[in-house]
Amino acid sequence: MFINELTIEELKDFFRKINEPSYRAEQTFLRIHKHLALNIDEFTELPRKLREWFSENHYFPTLNLDYYEAINDKSDDRGTQKFIFEYKDQKSSKNRIFESVWLVSEKRRTACISSQSGCSLNCTFCATAKIPFKGNLSTWQILQQVYYMIRFRNQTENTKERLTNIVFMGMGEPFYNYDNVIKAAKILNHPLGLNIGSRHITISTAGVIPSIERFIAEKQPFNLAISLNHPFNEGRMSLMDINQRYPLKELLKVVKKYTEVYKKNITFEYILIPDVNMTKEHINELVKIAKYIKYCKFNLIPLNTNFNNWRTPEEEEVLAFQKELRKNGILAFYRGSPGKKINAACGMLALQKKEMLI
Ligand code: SF4
Repeated sequence: MFINELTIEELKDFFRKINEPSYRAEQTFLRIHKHLALNIDEFTELPRKLREWFSENHYFPTLNLDYYEAINDKSDDRGTQKFIFEYKDQKSSKNRIFESVWLVSEKRRTACISSQSGCSLNCTFCATAKIPFKGNLSTWQILQQVYYMIRFRNQTENTKERLTNIVFMGMGEPFYNYDNVIKAAKILNHPLGLNIGSRHITISTAGVIPSIERFIAEKQPFNLAISLNHPFNEGRMSLMDINQRYPLKELLKVVKKYTEVYKKNITFEYILIPDVNMTKEHINELVKIAKYIKYCKFNLIPLNTNFNNWRTPEEEEVLAFQKELRKNGILAFYRGSPGKKINAACGMLALQKKEMLI
């Protein structure tokens, strides 16, 4: 058990059991989730003996930064930073390696974080699918990606900018690690923590229907995004193996239910691959889907990898695709490929360092 993944209530229980006053729970929660402590010595409000005891019993694990890269030139994605983290469990000697990305735009500072080390799914356009799957990340490992990035930026860039958004779009399928992901999102949203608004936290899934149903039944307040990528069942199957288990028609039914319950847009992520999912026929079918769902928007993402001899669409092709969707009244956004130069863009997270550019 680790103290950096306990809720306030769980911390109260914990301190009660070790005969410490309950106010220690709030002190500890603030120190970890607001002041972003990465070392037990920073818990100055706790008695030294207690800190030593935490340390001896490994109650407060931390990640190691294995690799770091930033884009500093004057390009549009200036400021994108990529982090590769590692954690070796002392008891099981299992190690977890995973990536996070800090994205900068005019108004937003977004932490794109991982929920698993590798991924058990096999989306054919995604580099994460090509590396070994090592398992789910625990709640503290998810949280600490965010805390580490903020601390790192504050120290190295000498900045106090505020993180505005969190997206679970790094490595892994968040809904195959549902409990840890939702717990992390709740802690990130907590008023005594970073207090990131629930509307600024987005969880993206390739389409794990039972978890989407659970998310709806629990009325989780966070945004949901669906990695759609193809409007036809067969075509989607060829891109995403999860479609065999959860076919498109069933997925769209549950997405519709989400929009009816939440009365807000669902986001469809759509990786654009020339000759695969960008023809007139695909656009027509997407229009049908959008009419069926009613409340939805599309994020258009040009392919960033080069598997299967596929190519990245030219900017004009992306804009033409966007224009066609918009002509049909569909909200479609295109925000470029921030991080591509350092293997940090969408679909590129495969623990690769600069010298290994895909
Ligand atoms: S796109 Fe997401 S779900 Fe698909 S293989 Fe990559 S990380 Fe996994």
